[in-house]
Amino acid sequence: MQDTLRDNNTTTTARNNTGRPVIEAHRLSQRVATGSGTLTILGDITLTINAGDSVAIVGPSGSGKSTLLGLLAGLDRATEGSITLMGQTLETLDEDARAALRGQHVGFVFQNFQLLPSLTALENVTLPLEVLGRSKAGDELARQLLERVGLGARLEHYPHQLSGGEQQRVALARAFVTGPEILFADEPTGNLDTRTGQTVIDLLFDLNREQGTTLVLITHDDHLARRCAVQLQLEGGRLVDDRQMNKRPTDSRP
Ligand code: ADP
Ligand code: MG
Repeated sequence: MQDTLRDNNTTTTARNNTGRPVIEAHRLSQRVATGSGTLTILGDITLTINAGDSVAIVGPSGSGKSTLLGLLAGLDRATEGSITLMGQTLETLDEDARAALRGQHVGFVFQNFQLLPSLTALENVTLPLEVLGRSKAGDELARQLLERVGLGARLEHYPHQLSGGEQQRVALARAFVTGPEILFADEPTGNLDTRTGQTVIDLLFDLNREQGTTLVLITHDDHLARRCAVQLQLEGGRLVDDRQMNKRPTDSRP
């Protein structure tokens, strides 16, 4: 993996990476029909992310970052190519099976948070546990996570009573509550001031270190991107340097 690193001075991945692939994308493309022809949003993306990796997806606005994250997490279907998530080939699964796979293994923080407006902060965070049938044990964990992101005094607040940054932190607590093996986050510090952003970044990397959580993050924050062991750069829907990505030593398959 070291050959993909730019500017890297962290040993996080070397320590955490177990070499077991948790996400594999093969020749992934996403095309949509428009009035003026077919638009290629993502073209020919091949990559492997191993358990314990921390990966920053970077690139200009409109380069396909959110689209790629949604495909890798199994939220959307690619028009071409193949994705294996936790050993399961996503193209072979229907929506229910993909939802079950996500519920079991994946946490997702959306760019626009997607909190349920009729639920309090605490209820929003416990919701994924109820879907998994683990609602009782989760209440205390949800409280602890909300405290950890600095919202211990906001448990009963509704999303409209919270600032953008506070909603973002509720969304992070919700993503962590199931103890996901992979955490996907679209600009997780995008709405946070420097100090709160640092708290959230520390929380992400604590999880990465303590629980081996694989992190796949979109960010414009140089500091956050540099703390990730791998930086994937998108430009115009294509991975820059993807040949290097595919040559990395940890990508050797049996
Ligand atoms: P980023 O997250 O890097 O800003 P996105 O993945 O959101 O980029 O979008 C990449 C490009 O694809 C943008 O130009 C966007 O307008 C376009 N796009 C995304 N989804 C659709 C869609 N469903 N139909 C048409 N264009 C889309
Ligand atoms: Mg985006």
